Amino acid sequence: MRVVIALGGNALLRRGDRPDAAVQHTNIQAAVAALAPLAHRHELVITHGNGPQVGLLALQSAADRSLTSPYPFDVLGAETQGMIGYWLLQSLQNALPGRQVCALLNQTLVSAADPAFANPAKFVGPVYEREEAERLAAERGWTVKADGPHWRRVVPSPDPQRVVETRLIRLLLTSGAVAVCAGGGGVPVIRDEHGQLTGVEAVVDKDLTAALLAEALDADALLLLTDVPQAMRRYGTPDAEPIGRTTPAGLRAEPFPAGSMGPKAEAACRFVELTGGMAAIGSLHDAQAILDGSAGTVVTPNGRYPQNTNDAPGSQT
Ligand code: ADP
Ligand code: MG
Repeated sequence: MRVVIALGGNALLRRGDRPDAAVQHTNIQAAVAALAPLAHRHELVITHGNGPQVGLLALQSAADRSLTSPYPFDVLGAETQGMIGYWLLQSLQNALPGRQVCALLNQTLVSAADPAFANPAKFVGPVYEREEAERLAAERGWTVKADGPHWRRVVPSPDPQRVVETRLIRLLLTSGAVAVCAGGGGVPVIRDEHGQLTGVEAVVDKDLTAALLAEALDADALLLLTDVPQAMRRYGTPDAEPIGRTTPAGLRAEPFPAGSMGPKAEAACRFVELTGGMAAIGSLHDAQAILDGSAGTVVTPNGRYPQNTNDAPGSQT
């Protein structure tokens, strides 16, 4: 099978972890130990989040007095692809001796006409008091919005349209390589009327890019791996209940939060609706069990998995 895996940023840097290089490196080695066995049986594409890392680099850049202005988000996104890509590359090479592994820097095309540009909604970086946020907004041209009792910078999160280097990734897969790519959803770029690419101040959702890439590569499965074993109904309430096998319509009926489970559910639904394949949401450490059909929230057109079984939707919980 050709499998696209999206690794959650939270699997690389757990909430409360110090963002030290050594901590992230250790977490990545644990992630790779969970994923490497899949590479023996499947073609593997690994994408990853970059939320905490890009936030940290943005702060460092903003605090650097030798800069006229902080580095823009496209550049910071590329930096995180290099940093996380390097750790993944080396850990995968160590875990898969003899296998070719490649970490690519990728750009993701977005539309300049995407309504997200008129309504930046994705919170990035630290929280501020209102006055300070408004001062920074005036000084740096930021848009800031209230996030609960605090204020934060917001940037547009346009819908990914195409990973620019898709054909190259396909080439790598067909030659047997494991491809680490499209980290942080890819560096957001637009193409102008002369066909030229330019980076934009935006962030692309990594789960949506993973779904796009999986479809473009004709993948059989899309695994959205994170720090919870399944998507839940009524999450956080006393009658929370895990969702086992389900259909895109079944998943779309659930009111998931936009900042966390929402994009994973949307990504899973898009991939299954477009390809008829299987998408799943679950724990990094259950990757093999999810592919075998014994763990995770598994989404298929008819809610059965493997597709030739008679399991009714929701029977595996
Ligand atoms: P990642 O870095 O993997 O993208 P996110 O924080 O974006 O992680 O999404 C995973 C988180 O979503 C979980 O840690 C959990 O706290 C949260 N979450 C929100 N709603 C749900 C739900 N209905 N079921 C399971 N987890 C949920
Ligand atoms: Mg997320």
